[in-house]
Amino acid sequence: MHLITLIPGDGIGPEITKAVTDIFAAAKVPVQWEEQNAGQTTFDQSGELIPQALLSSLEKNRVALKGPITTPVGKGFRSINVTLRQKYDLYQNVRPSKTTDGIKTRYEGIDLVLFRENTEGLYSGLEVYDERLGIADSFNRITKEGSRKICRAAFAYADKHGRKKVTLAHKANILKMAGTLMLNACKEASNEFPHIVFEDKIIDNMCMQLVNKPEQFDVVVTTNLFGDILSDLCAGLVGGLGVVAGANIGDDMAIFEAVHGSAPDIAGQGKANPTALLRSALMMLHHLGEHTYADQIEKALEATLKDKNKCTGDLGGPASTSEFAQAIIANLQVA
Ligand code: NAD
Repeated sequence: MHLITLIPGDGIGPEITKAVTDIFAAAKVPVQWEEQNAGQTTFDQSGELIPQALLSSLEKNRVALKGPITTPVGKGFRSINVTLRQKYDLYQNVRPSKTTDGIKTRYEGIDLVLFRENTEGLYSGLEVYDERLGIADSFNRITKEGSRKICRAAFAYADKHGRKKVTLAHKANILKMAGTLMLNACKEASNEFPHIVFEDKIIDNMCMQLVNKPEQFDVVVTTNLFGDILSDLCAGLVGGLGVVAGANIGDDMAIFEAVHGSAPDIAGQGKANPTALLRSALMMLHHLGEHTYADQIEKALEATLKDKNKCTGDLGGPASTSEFAQAIIANLQVA
């Protein structure tokens, strides 16, 4: 039995988390959830944005499944997501995007995995505002070691999973120092894996290539901000934010969460698609070595996605979050 920290999060978080835990219970997955929370609601109840109980649970279990957490725009507290990623050095944000039978998209044959650096860059939290001059500076801190770790992780993943190519998306033509540091780190990492093709693309060209011919990409590695934007773009290529998974991975802790946010526009209405969080939970099962359970649930999910009548509104179906989850549970019998 694996003890897992479960963070339901805000907005649609509790609805999609319930769908996932229901499916796991029906599949008799050997996990035991330890529920904790963070963010504004938690602060209102307990006076703590990130309760010590959550940190202790993470430090004990080392694996978590997390729903999205709302971050106020322009004011208020610092992102809980960024704080946890930095505190535990979860330097890899791994986000696979793959076309799926049954999910209608403009493209076919996409199967790429994005490695986003998760602790540095413009998300370092180093910002100053000089009110007198009306100047705000946000520092794009890139370190040699941080770049080395994320680039090496991308190549090691490609090697382990039989992938053929790693593409670095950067802006070293303008960001002469920070961009070049990452580019050099990636070149160095590529020397260790000569059987994997390495290419680099300037980020603006990368965006055009991704919408023009996305099937050419295999593993993509990039900085924090570029990765944040590119992963939503990639989600759009394969069916939207409702279907793409993610994982924040460090050397001794991993927090699995969907790419999407708390979706306040549909929260509490039973409209959210739990596929993204479910797929994140399946990544978690692979991480735990529970491949058989992951494969069984994935088959049931894929069978469900092929039946439009069982899908949620974002995929053109009429089903609610819980109806979709029940359909996956029904398909577990045949998977
Ligand atoms: P969002 O990802 O929450 O929503 C963007 C759009 O996608 C919305 O129209 C939403 O309804 C739709 N969508 C998202 N997930 C969906 C799902 N599972 N099923 C169906 N439709 C879905 O982005 P946003 O509105 O820019 O951000 C809302 C809040 O989430 C912000 O406070 C932001 O900071 C936070 N956020 C948190 C995380 C995280 O916790 N990891 C990630 C991104 C954004």
